[in-house]
Amino acid sequence: MSDTRVELPYIAREDASSVKRNGGRVFAVFPDGPAFDGICANCNGSGQVGIQMFVGGPFVDPTAKRNVTEHDDKWYQVKTTFYTCPECNGGMGAA
Ligand SMILES: [Zn+2]
Repeated sequence: MSDTRVELPYIAREDASSVKRNGGRVFAVFPDGPAFDGICANCNGSGQVGIQMFVGGPFVDPTAKRNVTEHDDKWYQVKTTFYTCPECNGGMGAA
């Protein structure tokens, strides 16, 4: 499942592109756990998909910053945004 590609809505791709243009890094937020029959495999039934964007950093000392995460022994300020899953329309059935 590690190579599963999450489908993101158009607005998420736009947000990601904007961050990348400014030198940021963007990661898809993968739903946890296996997909079950009858449950949307894109969001695992949560109805949402997200992207995590690095909006600041790298920092050597994370203590003065909010919402930081470690990556390659450096600290980055992150912002996670969730969007309605485009595959199941937020759990309401096919979009
Ligand atoms: Zn879904």
